[in-house]
Amino acid sequence: MSAAAAGPAHVFGAGVVDEAALGAAGTALAAESARFAARGWMPGTAGNLSVTLTRDPLRIAVTASGLDKGELTATDIVLVDERGDGVTDAAGTDLTRTLGLATRPSAEAGLHARIAAVTGAGAGIHVHALAAVRAGHRWPAGVELRDLEMLKGIGHSAHGERVVIPVVQNHQDMRVLGDDFERVYRRPADSTAEVPALIVADHGIYAWGADLRQARWHLELTEALLQIALSRA
Ligand SMILES: [Zn+2]
Repeated sequence: MSAAAAGPAHVFGAGVVDEAALGAAGTALAAESARFAARGWMPGTAGNLSVTLTRDPLRIAVTASGLDKGELTATDIVLVDERGDGVTDAAGTDLTRTLGLATRPSAEAGLHARIAAVTGAGAGIHVHALAAVRAGHRWPAGVELRDLEMLKGIGHSAHGERVVIPVVQNHQDMRVLGDDFERVYRRPADSTAEVPALIVADHGIYAWGADLRQARWHLELTEALLQIALSRA
């Protein structure tokens, strides 16, 4: 998602976000939300998704709070900053009002923003998928996986590599969760890829990627790997 896309540009703080980028983000987020709601991973109004629009300063579009994720429209998004707080248009044009966007971001927007900042992700997905909830409860120090073909789908080896999906304890303060995420995040190194997922115990899972499609693949693969881990336990 590039801020250089055609369309009117609007200055939000020091960042520039254009209508085309916001519109495309809203359309993609609504479609992805419907997919996960249909899978039963977003019961009630649970879960949220985000797309990174600009990186310096960080601006992300995140799904709005309190809505059924199977029924979102392209305008059910909020533009937020690196703390997950809503951003107003410094240029004097209220793009949120002009485009009819929502104003109340998901309570979990702060962790989406932290993950985007720390990992460089272009998109993030948070759902309440059951294997993640169960695995986080069973293995609070992290879920160890090895020798599974699907590990290749999250950037790791199918043979001989120990991969740990990190687990943090649930908390209602996104700054605490963000600090805990940074503590357990396995950053990419010369010889190893990152682990693009985080379990929040007794709550759900976050997964991310370069774009929404890759974030979806990382989420689906991690949830499937966790199902296998639980079935073997
Ligand atoms: Zn949640």
